[in-house]
Amino acid sequence: MYYDCIVVGSGNAGSCAALSAKENGCQKVLLVDKCSPDWVGGNGYFTAGAFRIVHNGLEDLLPIVQNVTPEQAKHIDLDPYSREDFIEDIMRLSGRRSDPTLAASLVDNSRDTVDWLAGHQVPFILSFHRQAYEVGGRRKFWGGLVLSVEDGGKGLIAAEHKALKEAGVEIWFDCPVVKLLVQDNTVTGVVVHKDGSELSIESGGVILAAGGFEANSKLRVAHLGMGWEKAKVRGTPFNTGDCFAIAKDVGAKLVGDWASCHSTTWDFNAPEIGARNLTNQFTKSGYPLGIMLNANGKRFVDEGEDYRNYTYARFGKAILLQSGGFAFQVWDAKMLGILRKEEYGDGVVEKIFADTIEALAHKLGEIGLTDQAQFAKTIQTYNAAVAQHKMENPDWNWDPAVKDGLSTQSSHLSLSPPKSHWAESIDKPPFMAVKVCCGITFTFGGLAIDPASAAVLSESGPIPGLFCAGEMVGGLFHNNYPGGSGLSAGAVFGRKAGASVSQGKAMTA
Ligand SMILES: Cc1cc2nc3c(=O)[nH]c(=O)nc-3n(C[C@H](O)[C@H](O)[C@H](O)COP(=O)(O)OP(=O)(O)OC[C@H]3O[C@@H](n4cnc5c(N)ncnc54)[C@H](O)[C@@H]3O)c2cc1C
Repeated sequence: MYYDCIVVGSGNAGSCAALSAKENGCQKVLLVDKCSPDWVGGNGYFTAGAFRIVHNGLEDLLPIVQNVTPEQAKHIDLDPYSREDFIEDIMRLSGRRSDPTLAASLVDNSRDTVDWLAGHQVPFILSFHRQAYEVGGRRKFWGGLVLSVEDGGKGLIAAEHKALKEAGVEIWFDCPVVKLLVQDNTVTGVVVHKDGSELSIESGGVILAAGGFEANSKLRVAHLGMGWEKAKVRGTPFNTGDCFAIAKDVGAKLVGDWASCHSTTWDFNAPEIGARNLTNQFTKSGYPLGIMLNANGKRFVDEGEDYRNYTYARFGKAILLQSGGFAFQVWDAKMLGILRKEEYGDGVVEKIFADTIEALAHKLGEIGLTDQAQFAKTIQTYNAAVAQHKMENPDWNWDPAVKDGLSTQSSHLSLSPPKSHWAESIDKPPFMAVKVCCGITFTFGGLAIDPASAAVLSESGPIPGLFCAGEMVGGLFHNNYPGGSGLSAGAVFGRKAGASVSQGKAMTA
């Protein structure tokens, strides 16, 4: 049995790889996934469909988005996002540990790759619902991230798999890859489990796009540390890290940050693994508009440190480290109307309302708040700090679409941790709280690849026949992450890997 290209994983990276292999000349392309068909799309299905790319502002994006009328366009403020911006965001958030060549390869190919996906009928839209606020009659985009896909990850995977079908890519589900075939130091295929037996399939090139180890609680504890067994998995239960082991068996080099991951503020009542109906709606990213308190009634992060896109990927861990591994997000009536509807709408999350902070504390006492007096005191002190800052800066205006500088720090009163932007008093009833926990998204450690060809590297150079894309790639993200980079990275390196296999780089790399 022979295929020109075998891709492992039906998520965004694998889909892009298979599509690219096919259109670049591979005749027979096989995509295998260990999940059943009703889990198709891996974590990709669970995403918000947000893609971070380099662009020159609104005019540049209008040709690829499907949800902006000429009249609407007149009322949009959308800054360009340059190559330097994107690279700096990756470098800044990774503590300058990101592999610069890998980062540059992602950034430099991000725009072109999204054009390519749009050409394959992926329905891109401007992300009004998640990345823009209405300020003074204008829709203002913030945080370097403006693009998403209609119907989020569900829309993305549907479009990519439609394209795969039309291109004639064969897909086998319930088919885990358990081993790589090697001949003369070249990867020549895979061994899979299929219909109860073991099957060897030869191939001109193998592309691993099988996700990280986020859904494997043992590996989480081994690499991320004690306590990570309690994290809820935001997406697919099938990303258990098996393909790292089989790649290592053929000499693949492991690189990057194996001790941290992407994890975010997640609905405490969400299931232990991702749910195909609500998917990303369990995310609770409204904390920049309010504050977060732990079971002891204390704040523990700077909720306004930066735009949500630059903090959310490490706040899951911050919550995991709190007593009991949970926290409460709190707002007053002023903010309730601008929380993301998909995350805080009726029926999406349990919302706890009260007309006084003391009454709210009492209600939260029934679901884990251990120190109600401290909870009230924290909010009282927070309000005093906000008021003091306002008194010293009377001309500053609250604006969620820019880093407005409204903080809890002033000459007379400063909080630790501070709230550095968007600090508004919590004093107008009704008050609302939501209980959150840590949801793990994906892991950062992975395989070393050649940024140009996506070939997997050993200590001595590229492993002929083996390529990698998506969450399995190591070295790009460390400790934190600019929102929307995962899908872009998966698409960029998936597309490169597919092209490399079809161009025979498998043998020549
Ligand atoms: C809730 C949520 C929201 C997110 N939102 C965004 C967003 O809006 N924007 C963004 O950029 N990123 C987002 N991400 C991150 C994004 O999902 C990932 O970066 C990206 O989808 C990973 O793609 P992938 O193809 O590498 O992995 P996946 O899409 O997870 O695909 C991996 C596939 O490999 C299969 N597999 C695993 N092991 C084997 C094996 N041994 N044999 C065969 N198959 C195997 C799995 O079943 C799975 O289907 C989000 C993630 C989650 C969970």
